[in-house]
Amino acid sequence: MSSQLKSKLKFDNRFVNALPVDIEREIFPRQVFNACYSLVNPTAVKAPQRVAYSLEVAEEIGLTVADCESDLFAEVFAGNQLLPGMQPYAMCYGGHQFGYWAGQLGDGRAINLGEVSHRNKRQTLQLKGSGLTPYSRSADGLAVLRSSVREFLCSEAMHHLGIPTTRALSIILTGESVARDMFYDGHPQLEPGAVVCRVSPSFIRFGSFQILTSRKEFDLLKQLADFTIQEHFSHLLDGQNESSLSLYARWFEEVCLKTAELITHWQRVGFVHGVMNTDNMSILGETIDYGPYGWLDAYDPQWTPNTTDAEHRRYRYSQQPEIALWNLNQLANALYPLFNDEKPLQQGLDLYCKAFNQGWHEMMGQKLGFRALSSPEIVTDLLSLLPEAEVDMTLFYRQLADINIEKPLAQFDNPQCLAPLSSAWYHFDALSADYKQRFSNWLRAYVQQLQQTGMSQADKSALMNSVNPKYILRNYLSQQAIDLAEQGDFSMVTELLDVVRKPYAEQPDKEDRFAQKRPDWARSKAGCSMLSCSS
Ligand code: AMP
Ligand code: MG
Repeated sequence: MSSQLKSKLKFDNRFVNALPVDIEREIFPRQVFNACYSLVNPTAVKAPQRVAYSLEVAEEIGLTVADCESDLFAEVFAGNQLLPGMQPYAMCYGGHQFGYWAGQLGDGRAINLGEVSHRNKRQTLQLKGSGLTPYSRSADGLAVLRSSVREFLCSEAMHHLGIPTTRALSIILTGESVARDMFYDGHPQLEPGAVVCRVSPSFIRFGSFQILTSRKEFDLLKQLADFTIQEHFSHLLDGQNESSLSLYARWFEEVCLKTAELITHWQRVGFVHGVMNTDNMSILGETIDYGPYGWLDAYDPQWTPNTTDAEHRRYRYSQQPEIALWNLNQLANALYPLFNDEKPLQQGLDLYCKAFNQGWHEMMGQKLGFRALSSPEIVTDLLSLLPEAEVDMTLFYRQLADINIEKPLAQFDNPQCLAPLSSAWYHFDALSADYKQRFSNWLRAYVQQLQQTGMSQADKSALMNSVNPKYILRNYLSQQAIDLAEQGDFSMVTELLDVVRKPYAEQPDKEDRFAQKRPDWARSKAGCSMLSCSS
């Protein structure tokens, strides 16, 4: 197959053209002042080998199968060759890590290749794991296959679940080894190196603004804010009062709303980001930076996959909404110099709380099959019962959709009515009689409420199955795909990608392998339930 990859992508690189560059050109770790980015080329690697690509993302930027399967594609997206028009750079940003201001962080191992326009949509292409930048601090600028597969698959899984996210075009093996001490216990191992190409309209983060305010670079703060609005929130511009206070206020409100929507989605599907530091919060409200993330297997609100956060569990599932607000507060502090007035910022934060609460109730109502939730207790009662015994969150909601609400209510009078849900529990037979009784009381009340809405069983289950995925990127499935990929077999990466492309569909031929509870061997296996920041 021939490819015209070389001349296909049209770059216009607005970020670098509009914003100030670091004047130092040497690549060594340093503080970068009065600049939004540093020019830096990807480091060439030994032997690029394509692991997988997402055709949908490729098509979004105007590439075909032939382009993606060409040798040049692997060369370019491993960082070995630049296409005409590419202008690689690493971005400067700071952030609060685990609640503490960490100062400058920046793209330590990410390099943006440029912004490409296709069908009136502009996307930034970014390599992750492609070598040192001025922001690498004491690290190596590289990424391993394990974390690259996780980022690649999860970006696409999230997109197909209908959740805002950065996308992933490709994973390329570098042919080089990278040393990683996965559990920080003094036992580094060599792992295969890889590079993912991420794709998003913008990789600007909360921390991109924070770093400027922390350094009192207020002119630059205004420049970056104006650029962000112009490029990514242009619908807010009314043409007359650009960079007015009310424009900034509308922008901050929208960031708060988008963040509220994002977190509502995460809670809906049981996604735990794992490292919600402010440098990992996209200004566009996208899920960004897939590190030690995980998906709830058993519904446990206290769960976090990140072993680095095991002690305080700051980023546990149940705390994500509050942490997002905390992060928005930090963004508000960073944007304060644009306002010199707390009130509009406080209004944005209040809007987050209101929008999240409202959105969360609507979302939970839909998960249970209600078009409008009349009694929030039906949700809170369920959420207090679920963590009492290990029950798979994803399977539970899918099986609940099949509970026939057109049956007479009397059929829900005793715990036998739980039988159609039983396989969602890890140990159904071991559940106490008292728990089964309380759960069946809940189920009866639930069915009764749905009956009162007059909804048909078909409508209710269709609504539920449109918001409760059957297929999520189960932690142990990714790990199986990784184990095979490390042996040179990429088939499960491709197969998983295909399964997560249709998360709400039944896909009966995939059910036995991809829609099952976590097997016992994966309960506390590294990579399946415990992950560290080492990637
Ligand atoms: P993260 O925990 O992935 O959000 O990363 C926090 C910061 O560390 C960011 O500035 C990253 O660019 C940087 N970083 C993480 N891993 C590496 C690495 N292997 N080499 C250089 N910088 C890194
Ligand atoms: Mg990060």
